Amino acid sequence: MNTTPTKTKTLEQRLALLGRNLSIAYKNPLKIVSGEMQYLYDDERRQYLDAYNNVAHVGHCHPRVVKAGQDQMSLLNTNTRYLSDLINEYAERLVATFPPTLNKCFFVNSGSEANELALRLARTHTRAHELIVLDHAYHGNTTTMIDISPYKHDGPGGSGPPSWVHKVPLPDLYRGLYRSDDVDAVRKYSQHVIDVIERLDTRPLCGFIAESMPSVGGQIVLPSGYLNSVYSAVREAGGVCIADEVQTGYGRIGTHFWGFENYEVVPDIVVLGKPIGNGHPIGAVVTTTEIAESFDNGMEFFSTFGGNNVSCAIGLAVLDTVVGEGLQTHAGSLGSVMLERLRKLMSQHQIIGDVRGSGFFLGVELVRDRESREPATLEATAIVNKMREKAVLLGTDGPFHNVLKIRPPMPFNEADAVRLVETLDLILRSVAA
Ligand code: PMP
Repeated sequence: MNTTPTKTKTLEQRLALLGRNLSIAYKNPLKIVSGEMQYLYDDERRQYLDAYNNVAHVGHCHPRVVKAGQDQMSLLNTNTRYLSDLINEYAERLVATFPPTLNKCFFVNSGSEANELALRLARTHTRAHELIVLDHAYHGNTTTMIDISPYKHDGPGGSGPPSWVHKVPLPDLYRGLYRSDDVDAVRKYSQHVIDVIERLDTRPLCGFIAESMPSVGGQIVLPSGYLNSVYSAVREAGGVCIADEVQTGYGRIGTHFWGFENYEVVPDIVVLGKPIGNGHPIGAVVTTTEIAESFDNGMEFFSTFGGNNVSCAIGLAVLDTVVGEGLQTHAGSLGSVMLERLRKLMSQHQIIGDVRGSGFFLGVELVRDRESREPATLEATAIVNKMREKAVLLGTDGPFHNVLKIRPPMPFNEADAVRLVETLDLILRSVAA
C-alpha cells in the first residue's frame, strides 16, 4: 500500500502544523521530491527547470558536494574548539578569493546569523550604533535583521525602523528617485548618505550595509561610482562598510567572484551565505585583521554548529566545484547571451520595461505602460504561475513584485536558456492576447 500522502494531504498537514506566514510558491503549489543540478522533480516525476534557486549554486545534490558531506559525516562532526586542518584549509581557500585586506573568517549557519555577526563586529570596532541601510533591503529574519531590513519593517506586519537605522533611497536608475536620464543621479543618491551623516551630528556612525546587487530591491545593479563615494563618506565619518554577498557571491555575476568587485571597492566586512553551502546551512563573515582584533575584546565568540567539520568539508567541495567547473566564466558568458535574448524579447513585448543584471543574476521588470512605468504586478504573478505550469521556475521581486527574478543554479546551460526565453515569449504572447 502506498502510504505517501497526496499533494493535497501534504498541503493540509502543513497548514495545520506550520505557521501560516510561511509562504508557499505558486498558486498551484509544488511538491518537490528530488533535485539534480538545475532540475527539480515533483511527486509525479515531472521535471522542472529551476531558474530561481541560487542556493543550489553548483546544482541540486551535486555529487561532489554530497560525497564530501557523506564522507565527513561518517568520520567526524564536531565544533571549532578542537584543532582541525579542515577549517584552516577552508578559511585559507576562502580568503584567497578576496582582496588581501580581507583575511579573517568567522563561520556561522545562515545569512541572517552572518549579518548579525557583521553588525556586532562593526559595533565593537567603531563603538558606534548608527547604521545606514538601503531602502527595500533585506538582510535576514532575526529581530535585529528585521530592524535593518526596510523590505520587512516597512512592509505588511512591520513597525518601521528603530531610531538607529537610517534609510537612504535605493539607487535604482530605472524606477528610483533619480533615473538614468539624470546625469547627476549618482551624486544625488550618494548625497543622501552624506545628508544622513550630517544629520547624525554628534552621534557616531557605525557603518553602511548594502547588498552588492540588491535582490529583493528588484535585481538592481548599483550605478557605477555610487559605492565609491558612499564608502569614502562613511569611512571619513568613522564608519565601516559592510557588503552583503549572500545572493551575489561565488561567481554568480559572471564578471567577478564577488559582487563588490564589480564596483572596484573593497568593503571592511563581507557577509556570505546561501550559495557557499549549496543548501547546507553555512554562513560566514570575512573581515580585516584590524576589525577582527577589535572584536577580540575578551568576550568569546562561539557558534555550536558554525565551522563544524561537515560544513567545512561541504564548503570546500562547493568552492572546488565553482572553480573546477569554471562556473563563474560560464555564468558570465551565458548570462550575457541571456541578457541579449531577453532584451530582444523586450523589443517584442511592451510589458517589459527593463532588462538588467549580470551573469546569472538577472531581472526583467514588467510595466503596464513604458512611459508611466506603472508596475505590472498582477501580470508578473500570473506570468510566473504560467511559467510554473510550463515547468520553468521563476520568482518575482522588487518593491512592487513586478520584477521577474532569474537566478538559476550555475550549471544552467544553453538549452535551458533557450527553453526559458522561448517559454517566456510564448506566455507573454498569451498575456498580451
Ligand atoms: N541577506 C540577503 C541579501 C538575503 O537574500 C538573505 C536571504 N534571502 C539573507 C541575508 C538571510 O539569509 P538566511 O535566510 O540564510 O538567514
